[in-house]
Amino acid sequence: MIEAYCLAQRPTAKEHRAFWCHSAFGIEPMTWDEAIRHLKENGFTAILPNMLWGGVAFYDSDVLPVAAAVKEKGDQMAALVTACKKYGIECHIWKVNYNMGWATDRGFIAKMKAAGRTQVGYDGSANDRWLCPSHPQNQKLEIESMLEVARKYDVDGLHFDYIRYPNSDNCFCEGCRRRFEQEIGKKVPNWPSEVRTDEQLSEKWLDFRRRQITTVVAEVAQRARKIRPGIKISAAVFRNWPSNRDSIGQDWKLWCDRGYLDFVCPMDYTPSNGTFARVVNQQLGWAGSVPCYPGIGLSTWSDRTNVVKVIEQINITRELKTGGFTIFNYAEPEAEEVLPLLGRGISRN
Ligand SMILES: [Zn+2]
Repeated sequence: MIEAYCLAQRPTAKEHRAFWCHSAFGIEPMTWDEAIRHLKENGFTAILPNMLWGGVAFYDSDVLPVAAAVKEKGDQMAALVTACKKYGIECHIWKVNYNMGWATDRGFIAKMKAAGRTQVGYDGSANDRWLCPSHPQNQKLEIESMLEVARKYDVDGLHFDYIRYPNSDNCFCEGCRRRFEQEIGKKVPNWPSEVRTDEQLSEKWLDFRRRQITTVVAEVAQRARKIRPGIKISAAVFRNWPSNRDSIGQDWKLWCDRGYLDFVCPMDYTPSNGTFARVVNQQLGWAGSVPCYPGIGLSTWSDRTNVVKVIEQINITRELKTGGFTIFNYAEPEAEEVLPLLGRGISRN
C-alpha cells in the first residue's frame, strides 16, 4: 500500500528539491559520484553538504585546520563538486558557523580559548566549543573561510547554519562586555545582570548581538557575489523569527529584506503536518520575495524511513507554493529506503 501511495504521486515542474547532507564524506560506502547520481536519478535538484565548521574543514583549506581524515580519504569538496557538475545537481556548501565541531583539533580549541575567542555563559561557565560572535578575529575567520570556498571551488552556493548564538545565555565573555560598553559609550557596572534588568540596556544588548551575526551574513553575501557572480547565499534558520531574533540573535527576516539571502530554509522539523503547514505559512510572509524552501525533518522523526509523511509535507509545500523544500538528512537509510520511493512518484524525472 505504501508503494502504491508513492507511485500515485505526481511531480511538478520547476521545483527546488534538496537534501542536507551532514557528513562531509557523503554516504559511505558510496562515493560522492554515486551519491550525487542517486539524487539525480530520483529527480532531486540540489544538495547542501556540510563541508566546514567553525574550526575544521574537510578539504584543502588555507584558512581552517584540515580534518585528519582528509589525509587518507582526499579532498572531499573536489570529489563532490566534480560529481555535481557531472550530473547537474546544484551544490550549496553548508558551513556550521561558530561551533568548532566534533572533528576539530583539540590544540586549535585550546588556542582559541587562550586567546579569549570562545564563548562564556551568563553564569560565567565556559562554552569552549563555540567561538564568540563579537570577536573581530572570529568574524574574520567565519567570513574568510566561506569566501575561500567560493574562490577555490566551482560551487553554486554558500549555506549558513548555526548562524546564531547557542541560546540567550551566551555570550557574556569579557570581550563582549568590553565591545558592548565601547559601543554604548559607558560602563555597565552590574555586568551581566544589568543587560537583563534595565529595559533600555536590554534593547541595546539584543541589538548588539543581532548585529554581530548579521554583519557576517552581509559581508559573505556581498563579497562572495563579487568572487563568483551568480552564487546563491542561503541559510538554515530557526522556525520562529520574532522570538529567535532576541533569543539567539538570528534576524533572518532582515537578511531576506536586505537581499543578503537568495533563499532561506527554516528547520521545520515536526512530525505534525498541521504545525508544519502553520509555520511554513508564517515563514513565507517573513521571507517576502526571497524563496523559502522549508526543512522537512525526516531524520528527526521516530521512523527515519517514513516516506508517507515526507510526501504529505512535500504536498503541503506545494499547496503553499513554496517552490521547493529541503529534507534533513541524506544518509542511510534515507537514501536507500526513502529517496527511491520519492523518485518513483512525487519527484519523478
Ligand atoms: Zn563573547
